[in-house]
Amino acid sequence: MSDQKVHELIIIGSGPAGLTAAIYAARADLKPLLIAGIKFGGQLMDTTLVENYPGFIDGVMGPELMNSMMKQAERFGTEVVYKNADKVDFTGDVKKVYVEDTEYQAKSVILAMGSSPRRLNIPGEQEFYGRGVSTCATCDAAFYRDKIVAVVGGGDSAMEESTFLTKFASKVYVIHRRDEFRASKAMQNRLFENKKIEVIWNAEVTEVVGSEVVTSLKLQDNNGNSLDDITVDGMFLAIGHIPNTQILEGQIELDEQGFIIVKDGRTKTSNEGVFVAGDIKDHVYQQAVTAAGMGCMAAMDVEKWLESKK
Ligand code: NAP
Repeated sequence: MSDQKVHELIIIGSGPAGLTAAIYAARADLKPLLIAGIKFGGQLMDTTLVENYPGFIDGVMGPELMNSMMKQAERFGTEVVYKNADKVDFTGDVKKVYVEDTEYQAKSVILAMGSSPRRLNIPGEQEFYGRGVSTCATCDAAFYRDKIVAVVGGGDSAMEESTFLTKFASKVYVIHRRDEFRASKAMQNRLFENKKIEVIWNAEVTEVVGSEVVTSLKLQDNNGNSLDDITVDGMFLAIGHIPNTQILEGQIELDEQGFIIVKDGRTKTSNEGVFVAGDIKDHVYQQAVTAAGMGCMAAMDVEKWLESKK
């Protein structure tokens, strides 16, 4: 089934990148079609207070910010489909995006599907997901009041999340696979000063153990020797993100980590007429404000490109 129309622009993804692209494209009268996903808004829907998005002196709740962006995009004429894009076909001049059994067509596409938290892929991780295993301390920390938790990772997220968790938990282990963190010095210092945090260096979690909920973690050191199990009530993963490029296989050039490569240093991908914005391209900054900025850039690049094709 086709919706019988060749749109000027389809945007896939509705985090800050996709929604900012929609606001700009809609205001440029491109009447964009936004494939927002079943759960719109991206990762900020899973956060609480966002204090570093410019313009909000006292911060803003993540879901509130995303709801406002969506309303702003719709106000200027963005058409929204609250479903996931299942497949794309970018081989012809008319780009095709498939949502369930509907084929949507457009002259141009902006890819803004973001990224997802990386998992360890160890026994028990999936089984206890939501019952002690979490990828979002800001969402779940309050469930661990006076409990013992572990955070896995050594980047800024691991520092931030473990420090945040100490507001609730009685003890926080930070388990890192090397003997130094990659996080910024300021964040490391905050962690080292916190008496509730104990770092377990050169160690990896090999299994999440529990019955109804998580009760302990099995660990091994860097040489593969098993260490003593640690008793915990929860494990938080802060080991980076994987770009959501699954539906793009064979259609767009990706780098060795799976992020989309831009061809002009801006927002053009390897496929003419297909542009990119946000975390699906950016593994350095990964901020709401940088994603929004790139959404704006992509919409402006699309507008110019469509104009050049007339
Ligand atoms: P990251 O910097 O990529 O760090 C991921 C960490 O997880 C690394 O320490 C890595 O270990 C570890 N890791 C990766 N895969 C692993 C595995 N399979 N098993 C065990 N450990 C694993 O990710 P991030 O901390 O989410 O930060 C992402 C970006 O967002 C960064 O640019 C960061 O600066 C930014 N950020 C900024 C703030 C802030 O400024 N407030 C807060 C959060 C994030 P290795 O070190 O050994 O590779």
